[in-house]
Amino acid sequence: MNLYPWQQNEWQQLRNYVVQNRVPQALLINGALGIGKQHLAEQFAHALLCECPTSDGFNCGECSSCLLIKVDTHPDFMDVQPEEVGKNITIAQIRTLIEKLSLKPQFERYRVILIHPADALNNAAANAFLKYLEEPTERTVVCLVTHRMNKLPATIKSRCQKLTVTMPNKNLVLQWLSQQTNNAEVVLNLAQGSPLLAQQYATDEHLTQRRDCFNAWLSIAKQQSHPIIVAEQWLKLPETTLLFWLSSWVIDLMRYRHQSAPKNLYHADLNRELSSLAQHVNPIKLYEFYDLLLLSRRRLETQINKQVLWEEILIAWAMLNRS
Ligand SMILES: [Zn+2]
Repeated sequence: MNLYPWQQNEWQQLRNYVVQNRVPQALLINGALGIGKQHLAEQFAHALLCECPTSDGFNCGECSSCLLIKVDTHPDFMDVQPEEVGKNITIAQIRTLIEKLSLKPQFERYRVILIHPADALNNAAANAFLKYLEEPTERTVVCLVTHRMNKLPATIKSRCQKLTVTMPNKNLVLQWLSQQTNNAEVVLNLAQGSPLLAQQYATDEHLTQRRDCFNAWLSIAKQQSHPIIVAEQWLKLPETTLLFWLSSWVIDLMRYRHQSAPKNLYHADLNRELSSLAQHVNPIKLYEFYDLLLLSRRRLETQINKQVLWEEILIAWAMLNRS
């Protein structure tokens, strides 16, 4: 697959750089999480490296450059990312990169560096990289990818050509998702329009778990389940997913409180239960509960006892519904 079906416009923009012979030395691809930016950047990189691209501008897949890309050994292609997921890109990594860039490209075409997520560059790494951007080497294209533009230093942003990838067209995405799941609409709402995130959510296990947790949460609200028992059951579930569900149920409840026919709900398929719950819940206390969830997200990054965390959240939820 060359592109996702919603990426034609962005590809055309990248293609124009090549056709008009104005490929930027530093390109910053930004946009929401889970819409295929990384894939787009890789396709662009492969096309720049290929010796005989197709008429649509894609790499041919057969030349010696393409064969080297396939086995991850192209000397003019470098992929810089954190050594562990969620960690920073370090100054040591950038120094190694800059050292390699001081040599000439080995092939006749471009040399391409992919840095992702670019917001993972720590301060020292960003400063070192900035020095490179001030004096870039010949025939070298650096492609930075991020979904958190605000975390990138302005000095780096200002030296890059920017390509902003917009949220894809909903119908196009639904069509694509429907070929993979019967729950296209449900998972796309859950992902708030982000196709690759929706694709991740589209497993029976994920949707069943969400339903089970929602039922448990409702039953606490009705004082039919005990928060401490549910907290214990939740211990074995992934905590970031659970917190996301909790926060998004609460956001949906707030939308029901404030709008007569709320749009863009995360859990439109749970509308019957959510809208009826929204009628009984105290809005001020709901905001307080939401604050507790935000705080919990930060506390998850510390060594907090998870049982205590879920107990605290669920007891607060039970209290909120008792008043
Ligand atoms: Zn090729």
